[in-house]
Amino acid sequence: MKIKSVEAFPVSFPLEVPSQDATGVWHDWSTVLVKITAEDGTYGWGEIGPLHGGGIAVFVAIVEHKLRDIILGEDCFDRERLYQKMLGRGTSSYAFGQKGAIVTAIAGIDIALWDLAGKLLDTPVYKMLGGATHKKIPAYASGFFGKEGRPLTPAECADEAKSYADQGFKGVKMKVGYGNESDLENLAAVRKALGPDLGIMVDANQGFSYHDVLKIAGRMAEFDLTFFEEPLPINDLDGMAELVKAVDFPIAAGENYYTRYEFREVISKRAVNIIQPDIIHAGGLTETRKIADMASAWNIPLAPHIHATVGTAASIHLLTSTPNTLAAEYITSGGSFQLRRELFGDEYIAEDGFVSASDKPGFGIEIRPEALEKFYPEVLK
Ligand SMILES: [Mg+2]
Repeated sequence: MKIKSVEAFPVSFPLEVPSQDATGVWHDWSTVLVKITAEDGTYGWGEIGPLHGGGIAVFVAIVEHKLRDIILGEDCFDRERLYQKMLGRGTSSYAFGQKGAIVTAIAGIDIALWDLAGKLLDTPVYKMLGGATHKKIPAYASGFFGKEGRPLTPAECADEAKSYADQGFKGVKMKVGYGNESDLENLAAVRKALGPDLGIMVDANQGFSYHDVLKIAGRMAEFDLTFFEEPLPINDLDGMAELVKAVDFPIAAGENYYTRYEFREVISKRAVNIIQPDIIHAGGLTETRKIADMASAWNIPLAPHIHATVGTAASIHLLTSTPNTLAAEYITSGGSFQLRRELFGDEYIAEDGFVSASDKPGFGIEIRPEALEKFYPEVLK
Protein backbone atom coordinates (compact mmCIF):
# COMPACT_ATOMS: atom_id res chain seq x y z
CA MET A 1 0.00 0.00 0.00
CA LYS A 2 1.61 3.24 -1.17
CA ILE A 3 1.95 6.43 0.85
CA LYS A 4 -0.15 9.09 -0.85
CA SER A 5 0.40 12.12 1.40
CA VAL A 6 2.40 13.30 4.41
CA GLU A 7 1.11 16.35 6.28
CA ALA A 8 2.44 18.27 9.30
CA PHE A 9 0.02 20.00 11.70
CA PRO A 10 1.65 22.36 14.23
CA VAL A 11 -0.38 22.95 17.40
CA SER A 12 0.26 25.08 20.46
CA PHE A 13 -1.56 25.20 23.78
CA PRO A 14 -1.09 28.58 25.53
CA LEU A 15 -0.71 28.37 29.32
CA GLU A 16 -2.54 30.85 31.54
CA VAL A 17 0.14 30.39 34.21
CA PRO A 18 3.65 29.65 32.86
CA SER A 19 5.19 26.31 33.95
CA GLN A 20 8.72 25.84 35.22
CA ASP A 21 11.32 23.21 36.07
CA ALA A 22 14.86 23.64 37.40
CA THR A 23 16.17 24.66 34.01
CA GLY A 24 13.51 26.76 32.32
CA VAL A 25 10.08 28.38 32.06
CA TRP A 26 7.51 27.75 29.32
CA HIS A 27 4.47 29.78 28.31
CA ASP A 28 2.94 27.34 25.84
CA TRP A 29 3.03 23.66 24.99
CA SER A 30 3.72 23.15 21.31
CA THR A 31 4.03 20.08 19.16
CA VAL A 32 3.62 18.94 15.56
CA LEU A 33 1.28 16.14 14.54
CA VAL A 34 1.98 14.12 11.41
CA LYS A 35 -0.78 12.61 9.28
CA ILE A 36 0.20 9.98 6.73
CA THR A 37 -2.45 8.87 4.25
CA ALA A 38 -2.28 5.70 2.18
CA GLU A 39 -3.54 5.43 -1.37
CA ASP A 40 -6.84 3.88 -0.20
CA GLY A 41 -7.52 6.94 2.01
CA THR A 42 -6.68 5.28 5.35
CA TYR A 43 -4.50 7.51 7.53
CA GLY A 44 -2.37 7.32 10.65
CA TRP A 45 -1.24 9.93 13.19
CA GLY A 46 2.17 10.56 14.69
CA GLU A 47 3.78 13.27 16.81
CA ILE A 48 6.97 15.29 16.64
CA GLY A 49 8.11 17.30 19.58
CA PRO A 50 7.42 18.84 21.93
CA LEU A 51 8.79 22.34 22.08
CA HIS A 52 8.38 25.34 24.28
CA GLY A 53 8.82 28.89 23.13
CA GLY A 54 9.30 28.70 19.39
CA GLY A 55 11.07 26.46 16.91
CA ILE A 56 7.93 24.66 15.83
CA ALA A 57 8.32 25.85 12.22
CA VAL A 58 11.60 23.92 12.01
CA PHE A 59 9.84 20.58 12.42
CA VAL A 60 7.17 21.51 9.88
CA ALA A 61 9.92 22.40 7.41
CA ILE A 62 11.85 19.17 8.01
CA VAL A 63 8.71 17.14 7.25
CA GLU A 64 7.49 19.20 4.31
CA HIS A 65 10.81 19.98 2.64
CA LYS A 66 12.92 16.96 3.49
CA LEU A 67 11.27 13.79 4.79
CA ARG A 68 8.04 13.87 2.78
CA ASP A 69 9.81 13.45 -0.56
CA ILE A 70 11.83 10.53 0.82
CA ILE A 71 8.76 8.45 1.70
CA LEU A 72 6.01 9.52 -0.75
CA GLY A 73 5.01 6.62 -2.99
CA GLU A 74 6.78 4.07 -0.77
CA ASP A 75 5.07 1.04 0.80
CA CYS A 76 3.64 2.26 4.12
CA PHE A 77 4.27 -1.14 5.75
CA ASP A 78 8.05 -0.85 5.23
CA ARG A 79 8.64 1.01 8.50
CA GLU A 80 12.09 -0.41 9.13
CA ARG A 81 13.37 0.32 5.64
CA LEU A 82 11.82 3.79 5.61
CA TYR A 83 13.39 4.63 8.99
CA GLN A 84 16.80 3.71 7.59
CA LYS A 85 16.08 5.59 4.37
CA MET A 86 15.10 8.79 6.21
CA LEU A 87 18.15 8.66 8.45
CA GLY A 88 20.55 7.14 5.99
CA ARG A 89 23.38 8.17 3.78
CA GLY A 90 22.48 10.42 0.89
CA THR A 91 19.25 11.59 2.48
CA SER A 92 19.47 13.33 5.82
CA SER A 93 22.28 12.10 7.96
CA TYR A 94 25.12 14.08 6.44
CA ALA A 95 23.21 17.34 6.60
CA PHE A 96 21.50 16.95 9.96
CA GLY A 97 23.46 14.35 11.91
CA GLN A 98 21.75 11.36 13.49
CA LYS A 99 20.21 12.83 16.61
CA GLY A 100 18.23 15.87 17.68
CA ALA A 101 15.64 17.47 15.40
CA ILE A 102 15.98 15.08 12.46
CA VAL A 103 15.47 11.98 14.63
CA THR A 104 12.57 13.69 16.41
CA ALA A 105 10.92 14.45 13.05
CA ILE A 106 11.51 10.90 11.83
CA ALA A 107 9.96 9.65 15.08
CA GLY A 108 6.72 11.47 14.23
CA ILE A 109 6.59 9.84 10.80
CA ASP A 110 7.42 6.40 12.19
CA ILE A 111 4.68 6.66 14.82
CA ALA A 112 2.16 7.65 12.13
CA LEU A 113 3.21 4.65 10.03
CA TRP A 114 2.50 2.30 12.97
CA ASP A 115 -0.95 3.82 13.49
CA LEU A 116 -1.63 3.56 9.76
CA ALA A 117 -0.49 -0.07 9.60
CA GLY A 118 -2.69 -0.96 12.56
CA LYS A 119 -5.69 0.60 10.88
CA LEU A 120 -4.98 -1.13 7.57
CA LEU A 121 -4.57 -4.48 9.35
CA ASP A 122 -7.54 -3.78 11.64
CA THR A 123 -5.49 -4.47 14.78
CA PRO A 124 -4.23 -2.46 17.75
CA VAL A 125 -0.55 -1.56 17.54
CA TYR A 126 0.46 -3.52 20.66
CA LYS A 127 -0.64 -6.74 18.93
CA MET A 128 1.79 -5.94 16.12
CA LEU A 129 4.53 -5.56 18.76
CA GLY A 130 4.13 -9.09 20.11
CA GLY A 131 0.88 -8.72 22.02
CA ALA A 132 0.19 -7.78 25.62
CA THR A 133 2.65 -8.61 28.37
CA HIS A 134 0.68 -6.16 30.54
CA LYS A 135 -3.04 -5.45 30.28
CA LYS A 136 -2.78 -2.20 32.20
CA ILE A 137 0.24 -0.03 32.80
CA PRO A 138 0.99 1.46 36.22
CA ALA A 139 1.19 5.23 35.82
CA TYR A 140 2.94 7.62 38.16
CA ALA A 141 1.79 11.22 38.45
CA SER A 142 4.46 13.63 37.27
CA GLY A 143 4.24 17.36 37.83
CA PHE A 144 5.03 19.76 40.68
CA PHE A 145 6.10 22.34 38.11
CA GLY A 146 6.94 25.73 39.52
CA LYS A 147 4.64 28.57 38.64
CA GLU A 148 4.76 32.34 38.28
CA GLY A 149 8.55 32.25 38.22
CA ARG A 150 9.05 30.39 41.50
CA PRO A 151 9.19 26.79 42.76
CA LEU A 152 6.19 25.40 44.63
CA THR A 153 6.00 25.85 48.39
CA PRO A 154 5.90 22.80 50.71
CA ALA A 155 2.16 23.37 51.25
CA GLU A 156 1.52 23.50 47.50
CA CYS A 157 3.59 20.32 47.04
CA ALA A 158 1.59 18.54 49.75
CA ASP A 159 -1.70 19.58 48.14
CA GLU A 160 -0.59 18.39 44.71
CA ALA A 161 0.67 15.08 46.15
CA LYS A 162 -2.62 14.52 47.95
CA SER A 163 -4.61 15.19 44.80
CA TYR A 164 -2.61 12.51 42.95
CA ALA A 165 -3.05 10.00 45.78
CA ASP A 166 -6.79 10.72 45.79
CA GLN A 167 -6.89 9.92 42.05
CA GLY A 168 -5.33 6.50 42.76
CA PHE A 169 -1.76 7.05 41.57
CA LYS A 170 0.72 4.81 43.37
CA GLY A 171 3.62 7.20 42.95
CA VAL A 172 4.50 10.82 42.18
CA LYS A 173 7.47 12.56 40.61
CA MET A 174 8.50 16.02 41.70
CA LYS A 175 10.98 18.58 40.48
CA VAL A 176 14.14 19.29 42.46
CA GLY A 177 17.08 21.60 41.88
CA TYR A 178 15.70 24.70 43.54
CA GLY A 179 18.24 24.61 46.39
CA ASN A 180 18.92 21.80 48.84
CA GLU A 181 16.89 23.11 51.76
CA SER A 182 13.91 23.99 49.57
CA ASP A 183 14.09 20.58 47.84
CA LEU A 184 14.25 18.72 51.16
CA GLU A 185 11.40 20.71 52.68
CA ASN A 186 9.25 19.95 49.63
CA LEU A 187 10.20 16.27 49.79
CA ALA A 188 9.32 16.10 53.47
CA ALA A 189 5.94 17.70 52.78
CA VAL A 190 5.20 15.22 50.00
CA ARG A 191 6.28 12.17 52.01
CA LYS A 192 4.12 13.35 54.91
CA ALA A 193 1.15 13.88 52.58
CA LEU A 194 1.51 10.50 50.89
CA GLY A 195 2.41 8.34 53.88
CA PRO A 196 5.03 5.58 53.70
CA ASP A 197 3.53 3.33 51.02
CA LEU A 198 3.38 5.45 47.87
CA GLY A 199 6.40 6.02 45.65
CA ILE A 200 8.30 9.31 45.34
CA MET A 201 10.57 10.09 42.41
CA VAL A 202 12.59 13.27 41.86
CA ASP A 203 13.73 14.92 38.64
CA ALA A 204 16.60 17.42 38.57
CA ASN A 205 16.49 18.02 34.78
CA GLN A 206 20.33 17.84 34.79
CA GLY A 207 20.53 20.60 37.38
CA PHE A 208 23.06 19.09 39.83
CA SER A 209 26.79 18.48 39.77
CA TYR A 210 28.24 15.18 40.95
CA HIS A 211 29.22 16.71 44.29
CA ASP A 212 25.83 18.44 44.64
CA VAL A 213 24.18 15.03 44.52
CA LEU A 214 26.61 13.46 46.98
CA LYS A 215 26.02 16.34 49.41
CA ILE A 216 22.27 15.77 49.47
CA ALA A 217 22.12 12.02 48.73
CA GLY A 218 22.05 10.78 52.31
CA ARG A 219 19.19 13.06 53.29
CA MET A 220 17.29 12.27 50.09
CA ALA A 221 17.63 8.53 50.64
CA GLU A 222 15.65 8.93 53.86
CA PHE A 223 12.58 9.59 51.72
CA ASP A 224 12.81 6.14 50.11
CA LEU A 225 13.09 7.43 46.54
CA THR A 226 11.92 5.14 43.74
CA PHE A 227 14.45 6.87 41.49
CA PHE A 228 16.39 10.11 40.95
CA GLU A 229 16.03 11.32 37.35
CA GLU A 230 18.65 13.20 35.33
CA PRO A 231 20.79 14.26 38.28
CA LEU A 232 23.70 15.35 36.06
CA PRO A 233 24.22 16.90 32.62
CA ILE A 234 23.23 14.11 30.26
CA ASN A 235 26.59 13.79 28.52
CA ASP A 236 28.39 13.02 31.78
CA LEU A 237 27.85 9.28 31.49
CA ASP A 238 30.97 8.51 33.53
CA GLY A 239 29.71 10.74 36.35
CA MET A 240 26.31 9.04 36.24
CA ALA A 241 27.95 5.61 36.32
CA GLU A 242 29.86 6.71 39.44
CA LEU A 243 26.64 7.96 41.02
CA VAL A 244 24.91 4.65 40.35
CA LYS A 245 27.51 3.06 42.60
CA ALA A 246 27.68 5.86 45.17
CA VAL A 247 24.08 6.57 46.15
CA ASP A 248 21.33 4.55 47.84
CA PHE A 249 18.61 5.10 45.25
CA PRO A 250 18.27 4.17 41.56
CA ILE A 251 19.39 6.64 38.88
CA ALA A 252 17.12 7.14 35.85
CA ALA A 253 17.57 9.03 32.57
CA GLY A 254 16.70 8.85 28.89
CA GLU A 255 14.45 11.67 27.71
CA ASN A 256 17.36 13.50 26.07
CA TYR A 257 19.06 10.61 24.27
CA TYR A 258 18.47 9.55 20.69
CA THR A 259 18.54 6.22 18.85
CA ARG A 260 19.77 2.82 19.95
CA TYR A 261 23.36 3.92 19.38
CA GLU A 262 23.28 6.61 22.06
CA PHE A 263 21.34 4.34 24.41
CA ARG A 264 23.96 1.63 23.83
CA GLU A 265 26.51 3.97 25.41
CA VAL A 266 24.21 4.87 28.32
CA ILE A 267 23.44 1.24 29.06
CA SER A 268 26.86 -0.29 28.50
CA LYS A 269 28.47 2.29 30.77
CA ARG A 270 25.89 1.33 33.39
CA ALA A 271 25.02 5.01 33.75
CA VAL A 272 21.39 4.29 34.71
CA ASN A 273 19.37 1.79 36.72
CA ILE A 274 16.14 2.70 34.91
CA ILE A 275 15.88 3.76 31.26
CA GLN A 276 13.53 6.53 30.11
CA PRO A 277 13.52 6.94 26.32
CA ASP A 278 10.93 9.31 24.92
CA ILE A 279 9.27 7.76 21.88
CA ILE A 280 8.91 11.13 20.15
CA HIS A 281 12.60 11.93 20.62
CA ALA A 282 14.44 8.64 20.58
CA GLY A 283 13.36 7.73 17.06
CA GLY A 284 9.73 6.61 17.16
CA LEU A 285 8.20 3.26 18.02
CA THR A 286 10.50 1.27 15.71
CA GLU A 287 13.65 2.59 17.40
CA THR A 288 12.34 2.80 20.96
CA ARG A 289 11.26 -0.86 20.88
CA LYS A 290 14.88 -1.73 20.02
CA ILE A 291 16.10 0.44 22.92
CA ALA A 292 13.65 -1.24 25.30
CA ASP A 293 14.74 -4.69 24.18
CA MET A 294 18.41 -3.78 24.53
CA ALA A 295 17.72 -2.56 28.08
CA SER A 296 15.88 -5.79 28.88
CA ALA A 297 19.05 -7.76 28.11
CA TRP A 298 20.75 -5.74 30.87
CA ASN A 299 17.81 -6.22 33.26
CA ILE A 300 17.08 -2.51 33.12
CA PRO A 301 13.40 -1.58 33.59
CA LEU A 302 11.64 0.75 31.16
CA ALA A 303 9.87 3.86 32.46
CA PRO A 304 9.63 6.09 29.38
CA HIS A 305 9.46 9.84 29.45
CA ILE A 306 5.93 10.72 28.30
CA HIS A 307 4.88 14.32 27.88
CA ALA A 308 2.92 14.18 24.68
CA THR A 309 -0.38 13.82 22.84
CA VAL A 310 -0.33 11.09 20.17
CA GLY A 311 3.04 10.08 21.62
CA THR A 312 1.26 9.11 24.83
CA ALA A 313 -0.84 6.57 22.95
CA ALA A 314 2.22 5.17 21.16
CA SER A 315 4.10 4.90 24.48
CA ILE A 316 1.27 2.96 26.13
CA HIS A 317 1.22 0.45 23.25
CA LEU A 318 4.98 0.01 23.65
CA LEU A 319 4.68 -0.49 27.42
CA THR A 320 1.84 -2.95 26.91
CA SER A 321 4.11 -5.16 24.82
CA THR A 322 7.54 -4.92 26.48
CA PRO A 323 8.72 -7.47 29.06
CA ASN A 324 10.68 -4.91 31.11
CA THR A 325 7.85 -2.41 31.64
CA LEU A 326 8.10 -0.51 34.92
CA ALA A 327 5.67 2.40 34.64
CA ALA A 328 4.27 5.16 32.45
CA GLU A 329 4.84 8.81 33.23
CA TYR A 330 1.53 10.67 33.49
CA ILE A 331 1.52 14.47 33.38
CA THR A 332 -1.66 16.46 33.82
CA SER A 333 -0.17 19.95 34.01
CA GLY A 334 2.04 22.02 31.75
CA GLY A 335 -0.12 21.95 28.62
CA SER A 336 0.29 18.52 27.01
CA PHE A 337 -2.57 16.89 28.90
CA GLN A 338 -4.98 19.71 28.11
CA LEU A 339 -3.92 19.62 24.47
CA ARG A 340 -4.39 15.87 24.11
CA ARG A 341 -7.84 16.07 25.68
CA GLU A 342 -8.71 18.68 23.07
CA LEU A 343 -7.20 16.60 20.26
CA PHE A 344 -8.63 13.16 21.04
CA GLY A 345 -10.76 13.27 24.15
CA ASP A 346 -10.93 10.54 26.78
CA GLU A 347 -8.62 7.84 25.41
CA TYR A 348 -5.54 7.03 27.50
CA ILE A 349 -6.90 8.65 30.65
CA ALA A 350 -5.62 7.02 33.86
CA GLU A 351 -8.08 5.12 36.03
CA ASP A 352 -7.05 4.38 39.61
CA GLY A 353 -3.40 4.86 38.65
CA PHE A 354 -3.34 2.68 35.53
CA VAL A 355 -3.52 3.41 31.79
CA SER A 356 -4.48 0.85 29.16
CA ALA A 357 -3.90 0.61 25.43
CA SER A 358 -6.94 0.98 23.22
CA ASP A 359 -8.15 -2.20 21.50
CA LYS A 360 -9.31 -0.27 18.47
CA PRO A 361 -7.19 -0.45 15.28
CA GLY A 362 -3.90 1.45 15.31
CA PHE A 363 -3.65 3.60 18.42
CA GLY A 364 -7.44 3.87 18.56
CA ILE A 365 -7.57 7.65 18.50
CA GLU A 366 -9.27 10.09 16.19
CA ILE A 367 -7.86 13.62 15.96
CA ARG A 368 -10.50 16.36 15.91
CA PRO A 369 -9.94 18.67 12.92
CA GLU A 370 -11.50 21.58 14.82
CA ALA A 371 -8.83 21.22 17.54
CA LEU A 372 -6.06 21.40 14.93
CA GLU A 373 -7.58 24.64 13.73
CA LYS A 374 -8.24 26.08 17.18
CA PHE A 375 -4.71 25.45 18.45
CA TYR A 376 -2.82 26.44 15.31
CA PRO A 377 0.17 28.40 16.71
CA GLU A 378 -0.15 32.18 16.83
CA VAL A 379 3.51 32.49 15.91
CA LEU A 380 2.86 30.86 12.50
CA LYS A 381 -0.20 32.91 11.56
MG1 LIG B 1 12.48 14.53 33.24
